[in-house]
Formats: sequence, C-alpha cells, structure tokens
Amino acid sequence: MVEGTPKTVVMKFGGTSVAGAEEIKRAARRIVAAREAGARVVAVLSARGKTTDELVASALEISERPEPREMDMLLSTGERISCALCAMAIHDMGHKAISLTGSQAGIVTDSSHTKARIIDVKADRIREALSEDRIALVAGFQGVSTESHDVTTLGRGGSDTTAVALAAALDADVCEIYTDVAGVFSADPRIVPDARKLTFTSYEETLEMAASGARVLQLRSVEYARNHGVRIHCRSSFDDGEGTLVVTEAEVKARAKQENVEQPSVTAVTHTDDEARVTLVGIRDEPGVAGEIFNALAEAGINVDVIIQNEPVGDDELADLSFTIDRSELTAATDALSALGDVSQGVRTDDRIGKVSIIGAGMRSHPGVAAKVFEVLGGEGINIEMISTSPIKISCVISADRVPDAVRVLHQAFELGADAVRPEEPEGAEHRPTVSG
Ligand code: ADP
Ligand code: ASP
Ligand code: MG
Repeated sequence: MVEGTPKTVVMKFGGTSVAGAEEIKRAARRIVAAREAGARVVAVLSARGKTTDELVASALEISERPEPREMDMLLSTGERISCALCAMAIHDMGHKAISLTGSQAGIVTDSSHTKARIIDVKADRIREALSEDRIALVAGFQGVSTESHDVTTLGRGGSDTTAVALAAALDADVCEIYTDVAGVFSADPRIVPDARKLTFTSYEETLEMAASGARVLQLRSVEYARNHGVRIHCRSSFDDGEGTLVVTEAEVKARAKQENVEQPSVTAVTHTDDEARVTLVGIRDEPGVAGEIFNALAEAGINVDVIIQNEPVGDDELADLSFTIDRSELTAATDALSALGDVSQGVRTDDRIGKVSIIGAGMRSHPGVAAKVFEVLGGEGINIEMISTSPIKISCVISADRVPDAVRVLHQAFELGADAVRPEEPEGAEHRPTVSG
C-alpha cells in the first residue's frame, strides 16, 4: 500500500450475520466503524438467514427440474434484499452507501447457471463509489454472464468468492469473512464442541478442508485467494475477537519455526453428510468406457468426487464402477447415465452417503497416519466404503448416519481438541502454533 493511501477492506457477512433487523444493524455498525477508522470499505452480503434454502424449496414446489437460468433469477434476489436494507441502516448512521447487484458491481462470469465461475471483475463502479466517499454494498453469490448477459449465481456459499474476487480486483489489504463461528476450526464446532480455532492456516490445507466439507469458506474462494495472494481473515460477526488468517504455507511454517514447534501430522477433521453413491454394475472392462461415462457426467455439469473401479473377477470380463456426487445431483446423474444406453448392466444408487476426511500438511512426513485412521474407524464399528487420498488428505466414504461419530473419534484420536496436550508436555501446555483456544 502506498503511504497515505487509505486502507481498503472487503468485509463479507454471511446469512446468519444479516438474518434479522438487529443483525443487519450490527453489520452496518461494523462496516461504519471500519469506514470511520479511515478504511475504504466494500461489504459483500449474503441472503438473510435461510432465504436461499427457502427460494430453492419454492422452486422445487413448482417444478421438479427448474430451469437453471430462472433458478438464478430467483436465487440472486436474496442477497439484493440484504444489501438494500443494509444501505438504509448505514444512511441512518450518517454515512453514504450504495447497494449494487453482482452485475452492477462488475462481477463477470461464465454461463454455467447455478455454478458459474468468475472470469473477470470490472470494479470501476465500485472504485467510483469509493472515491465519492461511499461505502459499496455488493450482493454476493451472483454475477452476469459475458455471453448471454443473464444473471448467474456462483454455487452455494458463493458470497465468499464474490468477496475474495473483489478484494483481488481492488488490491484490498484484507478480505474479512464475518460468519457465525469464530474462525476456521479443527472440526465443525457444531459437531465437536472442543474443536480448536486455528489462528493461521495455509491455502493448501484450507483448500483441502473446503473441498472435503468445511463449508466455512467456499472452495472456490480459497482457490481464488491463493491464486491472487488475497489474505483472508475469517472471524465472528458477533464479537471482536481475532479469527483465522488464511496465508501461504511458507508463512505458517515460518511462524511454527519462530515459535519452535513441530508441525502436527493432522490439522483438521472435515465431513460431509449429503452425498450419494452411484454404482454401475457390469461395465465392459475396455479402454474408453470410463471416459464415456465421466464425459456424460461432465457435460451435465456434475462434479464427481471419489471414484473406484473393481477389477473383473468373473469370466465375463465385466467390472463394477462406483463414484460419489452431491446428493442434489443424483437425478441429473442418473438421467445422464440413462442417456448413454447400455454402458452397464445396471445402476445402483445410495443417497445416504457421507465422508470423513483428515487434513494436514504434516502427514507428508509422518508415516502411519492412514493406518491410524482406518484403525480408529474400525474400532468404532464404522465401515469404510471407499477411500481416497491426496498428499495432505485421507478421505473415507461412510454411511451418512455414522458421520458425527467418525468426526468425533478421529478428532479425539489425533488429539486435536482444545484441551489436548502431548503426553511429553506438561499439563495445559499449548503444542500447536496455528491454534488458539
Ligand atoms: P455463512 O452463512 O456465514 O457463510 P456458513 O454456514 O456458510 O456461514 O459457514 C459457517 C459454518 O461452517 C459454521 O456454522 C460451522 O457449522 C460450519 N463449519 C464446518 N466445518 C467448519 C470448520 N472446520 N470450522 C469452522 N466452521 C465450520
Ligand atoms: N446465499 C447463498 C447460499 O446460501 C450464498 C452465500 O450465502 O454465500 O448459498
Ligand atoms: Mg458460507
């Protein structure tokens, strides 16, 4: 930042943080306080409370397969309401504010309705508002397609990505994500009450966490932040405490070194409980078949997660192939597969699937982590149905109803809890640099 230039902050408030009139006024006070402290402020707001869920439900009451373009027209209204109301609250506090839709704010996306990707940010209108000493309030989760000029939405949780994209475009000093928990935790604090708040976490670990279900930050927002070097500060909208800073792995390591502490093998346990599994029984075991199947799914815009294929064991040379997807995409997936014709002898589905994952950059240098995960889950009588790994993640697909137990036992086994201490350390000693109470 050039000396004398006021600091620029992007502040994003999630659904719970703007749910009722009191919350909107609280967010407005926080925005105004940042402005009064001298910052140029852009605030990105989500739809109030459960508005987006209600809008989705109202669409499904009308139609089994709502047209994605119309879905975006509908869903994008929620965040506009929040912004207009918050602008009114800020005016009453004696400050100038302007609310903008995603399109007015210059969020340009591709045309994939309901899961569009930001391809450009033309923030001129925001810059103009800031130079006129206004606070810019931007409706999160939406943009406009370059091709069709239609309204698009960025996928559930997409307001995080709006905020990070604006922070990158405006070269903001920080992107603050205000939410209903105090930061990024070692597990979902709603499932594990003694989960620890991470003081620092790397883009790499946070990406894996977001990709495996820690919905506190949308995956795409972390990706965007890493690619553009945006510092994210994820914190509570209900108190002034410091939250979690998402920064480079080098910075996390430098801090650990400074404090002379070893990197733990595991940093967090994440979970999902809203997946479905599709099994294609009896597919031909020959080149090109998997390509055909997954191309059809990709063309239908379906994200596939874990995939396994069994070697044929019988004389018929037929294999079984299973994959997991978001439960909400199950109908679209089975539609896409039936359009392929006789690629398999049958399709089986299970819509009560979940996944538990452990994440930690430190597992690269700690052997035996996977063995411990399987042993702990086995000891709890939890059947592992599929496994996938990355260098810093181990995921196990399990039955959705066992997910909370799995999260709790793994969190405990890897001593991630707020009260956890290493055996060799004196009672009460902190052993993890990236963590606080
Ligand atoms: P917002 O509406 O503010 O965007 P979200 O509901 O999208 O909030 O995300 C916050 C929620 O994420 C928390 O209430 C918490 O239950 C959940 N969550 C899941 N995993 C984690 C985690 N590891 N750390 C923090 N929160 C988590
Ligand atoms: N309102 C949208 C959702 O509920 C976007 C967001 O809150 O980030 O997914
Ligand atoms: Mg969210």
